[in-house]
Amino acid sequence: MNYSDAEKVSAVLDASGHEKSDDEKSADLIVVVACSVRQAAVDRIFGKARLWQAKRKEHKLKTVLTGCVLEKDKKKLSPFFDLIMPIGEVEKLKKFIDCRDALPCVSNKQRRRIQCVSTSVPIMTGCDNFCSYCVVPYVRGREKSRPAKEIIAECRNLIKRGYREINLIGQNVNSYKSLNKPLPLNKGEVGRGSKTELPPSNSPLIKGGGNSGVDFPQLLKAIDAIPGDYWFRFATSHPKDMSNELIKVMAKGKHITPYLHLPVQSGDDEILKKMNRGYTIKHYLNLIKKVREAIPDIVISTDIIIGFPGETKKQFKNTLKLFRQVKFDMAYLAQYSPRAGTAASKLKDNVSKAEKKRRWDELNELLKKTALAKNKKLVGQTAKVLVEDFKKGRCMGKTDTSKLVIFPGDQSLVGQFIEIKITQIGSWALWGEIILSSSRGKRKK
Ligand code: SAH
Ligand code: SF4
Repeated sequence: MNYSDAEKVSAVLDASGHEKSDDEKSADLIVVVACSVRQAAVDRIFGKARLWQAKRKEHKLKTVLTGCVLEKDKKKLSPFFDLIMPIGEVEKLKKFIDCRDALPCVSNKQRRRIQCVSTSVPIMTGCDNFCSYCVVPYVRGREKSRPAKEIIAECRNLIKRGYREINLIGQNVNSYKSLNKPLPLNKGEVGRGSKTELPPSNSPLIKGGGNSGVDFPQLLKAIDAIPGDYWFRFATSHPKDMSNELIKVMAKGKHITPYLHLPVQSGDDEILKKMNRGYTIKHYLNLIKKVREAIPDIVISTDIIIGFPGETKKQFKNTLKLFRQVKFDMAYLAQYSPRAGTAASKLKDNVSKAEKKRRWDELNELLKKTALAKNKKLVGQTAKVLVEDFKKGRCMGKTDTSKLVIFPGDQSLVGQFIEIKITQIGSWALWGEIILSSSRGKRKK
């Protein structure tokens, strides 16, 4: 979601002729898209902002803060930023940079060419779930789904413009519900294909409900029906709202990738209850079984919070047990960080830092082993890879299952689907060589 917000900021800067600097030190404008999910991210902003102060005082740098920021942090950070802007109001940034003295030495450099490879389309904002540890409902507000017709038109446009990968994003995509029925696909197209190249950030968002609404599986089907060379995936799915219909649509989709990010957060029922997640491990395992039966080549990843208040060693062992059972390809492991205002912040954060780190290491070691074992099966196989980048003689891309693949190539391959023979593997990446280039975005059924 933050990455997608950063794209909106980039679009404003691109449209007004500014050039991206790869080096923070040479930048004359820095826009921070903040994340408040964990304290470490907020601390990093304070650290960076202090470093930028000297250049700011010499009037050689302007700084802007946007994204998810708690009110209390906003107050503390305000002396370090020239503009604090809600992410829904990116037009404020335009006014700020248009103002004559706003930027000290930005010239209208030639617009950089944007490579149309992969992008994100937010389908909803906010969250109604109030997991006890999470700050998102407080900083992003209540769940609101974008009208289906607007999303479909935006995807259609992106595909027409040559994007090969679309990530549909939202905090709980499974509860997506739009009151609008999809319109005929060639009418009323809006979004990033429009003149300003801005995603429709200020478009009306419609909260779902009612029988005539478009739900998430229906939205997926409508996007999947758009012709073209592309694939798409979505995140994040909430286990309590994952329906059989969704699994069916995923299995049948021509362009939907066989990849599912399904955050479980803990392998222990009691902790899940304290987290207010709304499901049990039995339910989660049953979902995994159904998904794997319907889509045998599916790759599944998850999120885990380690050291939630009161998490005993035995309860943590249940998370290890779950990892042995499910054998995730990937997992994002976070050490619990109390967030002001959340229900869990009233509980004692009684798992020590050292113990959280020890548990993190143990789980990460186990994950590394299962991921490696899964990747070993890919050696000698052919994978379809979307090439995203080229650096120092090597191309980098991802499979439809979101695995990183590195291989010798050249700049001209960026943005293409390429067949790669996998020759070497690690836990987090695959290495290979080109077999032949392909323009098909569809996986074999
Ligand atoms: N909507 C998604 C999660 C969004 S937040 C879902 O329900 O799965 C992204 C991840 O940050 C979460 O999955 C969780 O693992 C982590 N996270 C959120 N709050 C946290 C906290 N207080 N401490 C540590 N990790 C946290
Ligand atoms: Fe946070 Fe839970 Fe909403 Fe995810 S579902 S954003 S973890 S409150």
